[in-house]
Amino acid sequence: MCRFGEDRLGVVEGAGVRDVTPALELLESYRYPLPPFDPLIANLGKLRSRIEELAVRAPLQPLSEVKLLSPVANPRKIIGAPMNYTKHVQEVRQNHEIHHDNASHKNDIHRAGLFLKATSSLVGPSEGVIIRHRDRRNDHEVELAVVIGSRTNRVSRFRALESVAGYCIGLDMVTRGPEERSFRKSIDTYSVMGPWLVTADEIPDPSNLELAITVNGELRQKANTRDLILSVAELIELASSFYTLEPGDILMTGTPDGVGPVQAGDLMIASIERIGSMEVPVRAA
Ligand code: MN
Repeated sequence: MCRFGEDRLGVVEGAGVRDVTPALELLESYRYPLPPFDPLIANLGKLRSRIEELAVRAPLQPLSEVKLLSPVANPRKIIGAPMNYTKHVQEVRQNHEIHHDNASHKNDIHRAGLFLKATSSLVGPSEGVIIRHRDRRNDHEVELAVVIGSRTNRVSRFRALESVAGYCIGLDMVTRGPEERSFRKSIDTYSVMGPWLVTADEIPDPSNLELAITVNGELRQKANTRDLILSVAELIELASSFYTLEPGDILMTGTPDGVGPVQAGDLMIASIERIGSMEVPVRAA
């Protein structure tokens, strides 16, 4: 499922997309105060048969001709996981020349917990990343992104995957510097979600997915989600032990080693097995 063009809803099929926007008419029109969740994601189950019905009749348009938006329009939270791949933890320590003897990586993320990115930083792949501080280093982080499908509070890891609506490719962009992480990662366009949402029924096990990113054709990051320190289920357990997760909330699961700089004019191509790949241009402000 994708969002494209001028707020169209689509079903992706091969290299094409079928416009199923009329399915949105089934959503109730909310009035102020707006609900604390994304209405489309909250009602995906209810809309599914209408979407499938419309998809049969809708013509197939080439995906290459449409502008892809973030598959989630109105998340209330974007949650990030710091240092959740062992080799990335080592990379960060080398960069900072910090040495922790006998440190358990699992304890690291448990100690650090999770962080939040402003929802105003969210864009789709076609909008691209706009570098705001060109005098500073701006890095890419490719990550498996999880979209929550139902209200979830204090869930155990054993039932956590029942809360997942689907998966996307996420880019957790960051400007390096001394400020709080949430500040440096919340710059407009610094959370990219795309190219579409693959519903959870198509990825029953998110713990064995290859992921990669190239910049101008050069391979920068390549890993497998089996190397996550905290798995998707464990991350949902941890997140929901602090706050209630709502439909449409996004959980970025952490980035592997190979984090590196980008500048205006670069083209990033991120891919995750069973999801697909997305091209994300880097632009000047
Ligand atoms: Mn990250």
